[in-house]
Amino acid sequence: MVWAAPGSVVGVVLSPLFRRRRATHGVLLCEGADWPRRLGWPFRAITLGHVVLSVDVLDEPTLHHELVHVRQFERWGPLFIPLYLLASVWALARGGHVYRDNRFERDARRPAHTAPGVRFEVVSR
Ligand SMILES: [Zn+2]
Repeated sequence: MVWAAPGSVVGVVLSPLFRRRRATHGVLLCEGADWPRRLGWPFRAITLGHVVLSVDVLDEPTLHHELVHVRQFERWGPLFIPLYLLASVWALARGGHVYRDNRFERDARRPAHTAPGVRFEVVSR
């Protein structure tokens, strides 16, 4: 928790800008906001420590993806964002796509049972 706190603090600061907030799977999930799209934000969701921010209501596959990023934040702490950016540069340098070929994104796209460090299971409620 503490190691990922720098990301979580930024997420908590942004959380009031989302319409719905709920705790699930050990994270604060904030859903529903139009302003990121108006500002040109191309992604559906972003994970900041133990806070997941999403422009809409997340489906289970996307929640699973973001929970893998939470585990990555827990592993790398304040180093996660610099390492994530380096992984994007590395992907570009190798002729890949800045997002799709980022190793952290590739890990987050793996099926739940093969993703490294995953200790949870997303279930319907
Ligand atoms: Zn991702």
